[in-house]
Amino acid sequence: MATVMDRNRDMNPNGDMNRNGDDQGVRYASGVGVGDPEVDAILQSESVRQRSTLQLIASENFASPAVLAAAGSVLTNKYAEGYPGRRYYAGNRFVDQMESLAKERLARLFGAEHVNVQPHSGSNANAAAYLALLEPGDTVLAMSLDQGGHLTHGSPVNFSGRLYDFVPYGVTAAGPDGERIDFDQVADLARRVRPKLIVAGATAYPRVIDPAPFRQIADEVGARFLFDAAHVAGLIAGGVHPSPFGVADVVTFTTHKTLRGPRGGAIACSEELAKGIDKAVFPGLQGGPLEHVIAAKAVAFGEALRPSFKQYAAAIVANAKALAASLESEGLRLVSGGTDNHLVLVDLRPFDEELSGKVAQEALEAAGIVANRNQIPGDPRSPFVTSGLRLGTAAQTTTGMGEPEMETIGRLIGRALRSRGDESATSAIADDVAGLCQKFPPPGAERP
Ligand SMILES: *Cc1c(COP(=O)(O)O)cnc(C)c1O
Repeated sequence: MATVMDRNRDMNPNGDMNRNGDDQGVRYASGVGVGDPEVDAILQSESVRQRSTLQLIASENFASPAVLAAAGSVLTNKYAEGYPGRRYYAGNRFVDQMESLAKERLARLFGAEHVNVQPHSGSNANAAAYLALLEPGDTVLAMSLDQGGHLTHGSPVNFSGRLYDFVPYGVTAAGPDGERIDFDQVADLARRVRPKLIVAGATAYPRVIDPAPFRQIADEVGARFLFDAAHVAGLIAGGVHPSPFGVADVVTFTTHKTLRGPRGGAIACSEELAKGIDKAVFPGLQGGPLEHVIAAKAVAFGEALRPSFKQYAAAIVANAKALAASLESEGLRLVSGGTDNHLVLVDLRPFDEELSGKVAQEALEAAGIVANRNQIPGDPRSPFVTSGLRLGTAAQTTTGMGEPEMETIGRLIGRALRSRGDESATSAIADDVAGLCQKFPPPGAERP
């Protein structure tokens, strides 16, 4: 069977099949690269993979050529420990301008009082928020991992679970309007354990997360409220999800998921907490900031401020709903019965009791469909095996795919799962996938 990797290798950067099918043809047909043949060969292969297979990992996106260029800029050469106007090194006049620009745009985008654009990642943003708000051993309420929460929400293998006493909440039982955040449980637990902090936000939850009931519960028990908007920051920026800014005490998020910027994190908070948050990021947690990434964040925030970003955010959700409907007509059960955001969570058990998330992920990848296995609420299988699949629409929506393509993708997924292990059927699906992808190249597709 021609694997996806073989297929990629046989394709030149324009997506055409290379007549000789050799690596050299691919490498030199492109005319792009960094000039290091070994590095270029790998970059080229990855570039072809990204545009000849379907990118349905819910936490991924295609950043614009402007974001990619800023992230590859000369600002990587500069040390800038500290903050604009208060640096520990000389020569930061233009770095200060860049970081101030990023902060000004971000504050405007979300109507935030104070922002910090230095966290290297979403995990670092959470670590800084905890460092600012908690002492080791303090009690925190957060969504349990197997119900959709993130590693940094108290997993025992993560610093969060080792340093703080996390108490998990989850979702309601399956059924009509089920598998939603169980606010009765959140309130009961909050009254019982009196947490210092309540965390909202998730990594595999397909529904709107309303910050208002969390605020109410936090106020009742005298807790701080952190909203981790890592996945949905772009949906909030685009006005299709309720904003936690001005509701939560602290909002953390990544800049590379639905927000479509460079890989990184950011924090917003009230003036009252500004000093503590800034001190927690630097010198508390990090050294020199990645100013080239901060430049790329400034570009991405500028893009998200444009009216077209509202259309993009709305299209992400419309596409997720279309994908959900198509998957359901293929006989797949969706956790919570559908989606309000950019992702769907498939419970594979009713489709095929024997089919684990791991096997499904591998079957889809062989067919050129890239998604990840994921635990579902109450999953009997381990996080390495799982009974679920998580699929997101943010990246393919960026390429211009719409509801008709989502309907097609749902059918391709059904076909791929049913014909797993059948090499010729899988190869035929991979051809269909490549044909579809060729019509929707990601922005900056020819870049390494
Ligand atoms: C992705 C994610 C993070 C962490 O982001 P990284 O940049 O991968 O460290 C934190 N919280 C939630 C809810 C996430 O989904």
